[in-house]
Amino acid sequence: MDDQLARLNRLPLRDDLRGQHPYGAPQLDVPIQLNVNENTHGVPEEVQEAIVDAVRSVASGLNRYPDREFTQLRTALAEYLGHGLVPEQLWAANGSNEVLQQILQAFGGPGRSALGFPPTYSMYPLLAAGTGTAYLKGVRADDFELTAGSAARQVRDLAPNVVFLCSPNNPTGTALGLDVVEAVYEAGEASQAVVIVDEAYAEFAHADTESALALLPGRTRLVVTRTMSKAFALAGARLGYLAAAPEVVDALRLVRLPYHLSAITQATALAALRHRESLMAEVEEIKHQRDRIVKELERMGLEPASSDSNFVFFSGLEDPQRIWKGLLDAGVIVRDVGIPGSLRVTAGTAYETTAFLTRLEELLAAEG
Ligand code: PMP
Repeated sequence: MDDQLARLNRLPLRDDLRGQHPYGAPQLDVPIQLNVNENTHGVPEEVQEAIVDAVRSVASGLNRYPDREFTQLRTALAEYLGHGLVPEQLWAANGSNEVLQQILQAFGGPGRSALGFPPTYSMYPLLAAGTGTAYLKGVRADDFELTAGSAARQVRDLAPNVVFLCSPNNPTGTALGLDVVEAVYEAGEASQAVVIVDEAYAEFAHADTESALALLPGRTRLVVTRTMSKAFALAGARLGYLAAAPEVVDALRLVRLPYHLSAITQATALAALRHRESLMAEVEEIKHQRDRIVKELERMGLEPASSDSNFVFFSGLEDPQRIWKGLLDAGVIVRDVGIPGSLRVTAGTAYETTAFLTRLEELLAAEG
């Protein structure tokens, strides 16, 4: 890494990128991969077939650029989300990471700032750095909770141009109450902050957890981002999207690259949306495994956070590094998010979850 840094430093790199580290969750060839919150249940056969058919049908037209406005896809996404949304309020890009980047390109940038509340999604500071946006670190309570009062006060004090609220939050898995979103939005009035609610894991939420989509009417600076990487099991296809006021979508047209969403991506996403019933059945099974992990970790005397996502953050470990390594030796990779005494695990299939829980219990027993 030091060599790499030295080599980079000899380049005429932008000063504000010097010393930065790229996103780097390990991509190891391990049998049980529970480290990056992918959908562990795979793409159902019926959906695979629908995708292959859809891609075949666009193949002959690949000499032409795709529909720059991806109208059919925006219509299907609006219909999927409901909440009275219309296609003009939808936008998509290659993963929600690209959607977030476009928001920063349009509303952040040099001389502007974005506020996040760590521990939260590790890409926010990197996306800020890449777009020349100053990243401001807000604070949470010791138990990582973020209350409406505290969040609103920090927004008023720091007057950011963009606010990242991640709900359910990565890495903790907990969802925010809509009171927090409302309070942050109001507090952002003075600095005209664009408030992003990153709902990448929304489909895994408990039935009584409400989406910020319900708050969109009348709130022009509010943006709700989603992805097909998690519930739709399409991390490899790269399709993220947002819902917002039509004028926010107009702003993103100023920064998107022409034809950024390939015809293959559009066809793939449309096919998956048409076959969402079988995908959503898998989501239910993943939630079941998630709840099983929470219960089992509690039984082992650990402290799992309540989770509205497809992963569980848990504390109470004496030596998380040793546990991480012990799991890896047994062919199970989880995530060390760098928070003392804690690890994060993605809900696997029943088999994968059992393998994780069994090995973890053995490692804890060895700890004594
Ligand atoms: N937001 C959050 C909170 C995430 O955890 C992730 C992926 N780990 C993303 C956004 C980005 O996902 P994608 O680009 O695959 O849509």
